Amino acid sequence: QDKHRYSGIVEDCCCDYETVDHLNEEVLHPLLQDLVKTPFFRYFKVKLWCNCPFWPDDDDLKCQEGKPQAAVDRTLDSKAFRGWTETDNPWTYDDETDNSEMTYVNLQLNPERYTGYTGPSARRIWDAVYSENCPKYPAEELCQEEKILYKLISGLHSSISIHIASDYLLDEATNLWGHNLDLMYNRVLRYPNRVQNLYFTFLFVLRAVTKAADYLEQAEYDTGNPTEDLKTHSLMRQLLYNPKLQAACPLPFDEAKLWKGQRGPELKQKIQAQFKNISALMDCVGCEKCRLWGKLQVLGLGTALKILFSVNGEDHSHQTLELQRNEVIALINLLNRLSESIKFVHEMGAAAEKLNEGT
Ligand code: FAD
Repeated sequence: QDKHRYSGIVEDCCCDYETVDHLNEEVLHPLLQDLVKTPFFRYFKVKLWCNCPFWPDDDDLKCQEGKPQAAVDRTLDSKAFRGWTETDNPWTYDDETDNSEMTYVNLQLNPERYTGYTGPSARRIWDAVYSENCPKYPAEELCQEEKILYKLISGLHSSISIHIASDYLLDEATNLWGHNLDLMYNRVLRYPNRVQNLYFTFLFVLRAVTKAADYLEQAEYDTGNPTEDLKTHSLMRQLLYNPKLQAACPLPFDEAKLWKGQRGPELKQKIQAQFKNISALMDCVGCEKCRLWGKLQVLGLGTALKILFSVNGEDHSHQTLELQRNEVIALINLLNRLSESIKFVHEMGAAAEKLNEGT
């Protein structure tokens, strides 16, 4: 039985919905859940204070909106990343190189969930992300590459909304947290495109991870805890060279089809600039925990774009892949978030729709 109305091939991708659900449930979700708990993947280095380059005249720009849950828990287990300062940035380029402004955050202590961040400030960010950076033209008017940027952002937006709905403060007085299926339906499920874009984004990031398999297999996962680090490496190998994944969905997304025409290089530059703007907008997000996850996930998407389009690309740049530690952490954590969202849609989608039919 089709649990959530979607069937057939995910648009612009190479695998169908049922296969994605099955692979996610059986293989990817359990692996990713274990991976993100390892010491290597649970600490993310981030500049948390907001330094918004847009709207400079706005005195009301706040950085601590939302409920108390919106603040980032900065508790750290200092033993977990012994030696990190020396080995930091072994994989080259980083936009946020000023280490004095960066903080390590334990992601396990800061789940992405409802924070109470809403209203004009949140709306302004999403509006800017869509209208300034990837205009919502009707799909036919968009060439394939521009459409892809829109779909990636929309897919990420769906995933954020699903995490808010899956871990929602239902009753403030008793501090009761749980699923808010109504919100899930009204923000995501009732718009089939938003669900499609979530699956698309998942497959896109999955393709980036598997494309970079040989590089990621060789990468250093050293945190000074040999037992844990060995486990991280082993889990990564299971993810990167998974026989079930290779059999069922060997090419989750085919990047070779893009940037083909004469306009290719120009278009790529344009989209790169747009994505940089989206990334800069994350400095304007007015709630700390939302900023943390916004930055992480946009860096994860940027890393996927870099893997798929800036290495040995059609422009014959012949650059070899080099990733920074933080980029790898962002990429895998993003894949895990998307995987959680897909699982949630698959499991709760039917219930949410039913609930809505009854109201
Ligand atoms: P919004 O989600 O703000 O959407 C605004 C508009 O965008 C919608 O009206 C619709 O036209 C369009 N839209 C919505 N979804 C999609 C989609 N998938 N594809 C295309 N268009 C779409 N809040 C939390 O509680 N916890 C968080 O962790 C959190 N993280 C955030 C991270 C970022 C980067 C940002 C910008 C906001 C975050 N927020 C978070 C706020 C949250 O995303 C919403 O903005 C807020 O809950 C208000 O929701 P809304 O119903 O007004 O619609």
